[in-house]
Amino acid sequence: MLKSKASPISLEQRNATRLRVLEHIRTKGAVPRIEIASALQTSPATVTAATADLISAGLIKEIESEAQSKSGKRGRPKVLLQLDGQSFLVAGLKIARQMISIILVDFEGNEVTSHKFPLDNARMSPTDFVSTIQKALEETCAKIGGSVGQLAGVSIGVAGQVDASRNFVHWSSSITERNFDFRSLLSNQLPCPAFIENDANLVAKAEQLFGLGKGLKNFLVVTIEHGVGLGIVLDGKLYRGERGCGAEFGHTKVQLDGALCQCGQRGCLEAYVGDYALLREMTVTGQNNELKTASDIHDRAFSGDERAASVLARAGQMFGLGVSNLINLFDPECIIVSGTQKSFEHLCTDEVMARIRNGVISVDAALPDIRVHHWGDLMWAKGAAAYGIEQISILKVKELAANAS
Ligand SMILES: [Zn+2]
Repeated sequence: MLKSKASPISLEQRNATRLRVLEHIRTKGAVPRIEIASALQTSPATVTAATADLISAGLIKEIESEAQSKSGKRGRPKVLLQLDGQSFLVAGLKIARQMISIILVDFEGNEVTSHKFPLDNARMSPTDFVSTIQKALEETCAKIGGSVGQLAGVSIGVAGQVDASRNFVHWSSSITERNFDFRSLLSNQLPCPAFIENDANLVAKAEQLFGLGKGLKNFLVVTIEHGVGLGIVLDGKLYRGERGCGAEFGHTKVQLDGALCQCGQRGCLEAYVGDYALLREMTVTGQNNELKTASDIHDRAFSGDERAASVLARAGQMFGLGVSNLINLFDPECIIVSGTQKSFEHLCTDEVMARIRNGVISVDAALPDIRVHHWGDLMWAKGAAAYGIEQISILKVKELAANAS
């Protein structure tokens, strides 16, 4: 009786140690055991046990580095531990309105290949959604002469409200059904574990692991695309909300009974700032000839079109109002504004910054840093891959525990 009560706790503790060791190696690169033990304030014996487990799971490997003695002579080789980059292939996908962006990465996050898969429909039934993902993955793997069967995991980013802990999509603009549990559909159709997560959370994860959020404890990531997203990192962890529905910055209200939003409500920030809102505004004024994207509106504004300039300026003012509300709520170290194109420069102007300053409760301290991060086209897919690597690590460590018990 006593044993069965005690063992789950010790398993949990062992798993937690393995994950901490793995995370340390991921952050530091090649590192000797003794340094891991001192950084994690644990005993060398604990680290030796954890690293042996991680090596047997194929997550890390030993390498030898030639130590140089002070006299310049070769010393005894030092054994270092590093991630086994070749061990797993992970796919990160971002489902956008007109295409799926896919990146394949190794376990260290290095790009192996990438692909763009055009979509006929922006909204799909759950079955079509998964079979389209499968086709997109097949095409991507074929580019390296491989197959979907070689993937260790697939991580999928969508806009909307997602409970990532159970692959449950409350609502997404890419999916026709509400409240859909993707677990069985994904596990029936794909040969490896798959994870669905809100796309802005994935970008926050990528900023934390590889980007401007590295080393920060409390920061926010605002994503600008078709809509407006938010990722919240508090005390080094992604905050998702109790139901996985938190951080809906785009649907916070900035105008009573204002413009109609794609969520069905009125006055949402996104209904003034999102790509679709800008294009709609230009259509209403009869100015939308040949305008397809927000960057077309930028080009118009740049070439002296006053209407286009005023549409962008209004979006900027609404955005400034929204960001000042975020600062009042969270008081973060930093807000990172992330986007894939240069089509959000109107949201980072001096006028917008002034609007933010005016909306923040005045104290005798500097405002949080507001940094702009222009990513390449693969921003979202890279974020998805980062999340995939993290989830695969957790699964592999859990498998270790299951095999040992
Ligand atoms: Zn809305």
